Amino acid sequence: MSKKLKGKNRNKNRKKMRLNNFHNKESYKKKLLNKILKWDDPVLKSKCSIVAKDENIENILKDMGRILYYSNGAGIAANQIGVIKRIILVLIDKKKPTFLVNPEIVSKSEDELIDSRESCLSYPGIISVIKRYKKVEIKYEDENRELYQKTFENFNSIVIQHEISHLSGECDLYRIWKERIEENNKKSSLSAAKIENNENIKNIEEIKNGST
Ligand SMILES: [Zn+2]
Repeated sequence: MSKKLKGKNRNKNRKKMRLNNFHNKESYKKKLLNKILKWDDPVLKSKCSIVAKDENIENILKDMGRILYYSNGAGIAANQIGVIKRIILVLIDKKKPTFLVNPEIVSKSEDELIDSRESCLSYPGIISVIKRYKKVEIKYEDENRELYQKTFENFNSIVIQHEISHLSGECDLYRIWKERIEENNKKSSLSAAKIENNENIKNIEEIKNGST
């Protein structure tokens, strides 16, 4: 009997530990995802600075890697998590996380454009088709600060272009979000004017009918 109880208690403890681990993991995940800046945050509109050669960026890269993993995104720029430095992380071929430090577009396929359906971690729910260069040649450093110059195509090219825009404080989806707000404001002020107009007409008719 005592053995049985011990066994029961042991299972209970294991279950409790598993539950605690789950809650710890969930709150850790939530804490990381909360670092993603959104909407009108001024940091998203900041121009990022070049990372110096001797700068220690280990913790920034770690954070970016974890946040991209938990957010299920295809790429992230450092200023999206509040770090105003020229660093992006991109899932090459949708699976290989690759850091590009101080990335620079060397050349682009000006005459070859593709339509890309994009979303952004900083503007959740906004999806739009954007014209992108099919190919881009990029000069960058990897996480060990080794220099590379490579050409990326299609999906990889699209994600890199999206993330590099962030480093200049720009995002097409921000612009589209703002345009939608403006449109909605116009629509609602138009319908407010319509209601007001109708009220006036009604009042005039009521006066005509002598009902007031
Ligand atoms: Zn984005």
